[in-house]
Amino acid sequence: MDARRGILYGARQTQNERGYTLTTRSITYDLEEGRLRQARFAPSPNCGPRPEGCGVDLLVIHNISLPPGCFGGDCIERLFTNCLDWEEHPFFAEIRGAEVSAHLLIRRDGELVQFVNFDERAWHAGQSCHDGRDNCNDFSIGIELEGTDEDAYTDAQYRALAGVTGALMDYYASLSPDRIVGHSDIAPGRKTDPGPAFDWNRFRRGLGIEPGNGDRT
Ligand SMILES: [Zn+2]
Repeated sequence: MDARRGILYGARQTQNERGYTLTTRSITYDLEEGRLRQARFAPSPNCGPRPEGCGVDLLVIHNISLPPGCFGGDCIERLFTNCLDWEEHPFFAEIRGAEVSAHLLIRRDGELVQFVNFDERAWHAGQSCHDGRDNCNDFSIGIELEGTDEDAYTDAQYRALAGVTGALMDYYASLSPDRIVGHSDIAPGRKTDPGPAFDWNRFRRGLGIEPGNGDRT
């Protein structure tokens, strides 16, 4: 099977009583007009059109948690939709007034929340550079994993991320495994996410790519 296509993205392998490995769940991820059907859509105003003639050819992996290190709750969603109360937590004073977004959030339990149509430009990368091209927001998709640089991401997040990435590569022909980076790769010295907790080899195995092939640079 061509590992870049088909419904086995995100499949979960488990053992039955006899020790056989079974695929107990296969989730099909697909896009329609820039929207992931499997995601809940919570539209963010922090977006705009991509520059004329500028296609999508980069995927940027991030992490976020709000307040930092706290999982669950709806603070991320309220931040990306400009509904966060800056007085609610002392940390929020540091990000007061921020107008940011990402295309997609993958929560700890694998829930998918989409904030910006993938065809549109989200505000996730900030000052950034990839392969000599600045302003990565113009040509990239940003996916946030709910997490921190140090806390292991969940199985559900790896499954969902692999599934969504497969669907995005099918939808955008110029996206490929060697065009997936971390935020820290395009904003070194300024950003550290997704951090050492993110297991790139595991992610690549989830895409059907053996570690060592198509290495990230
Ligand atoms: Zn980031």
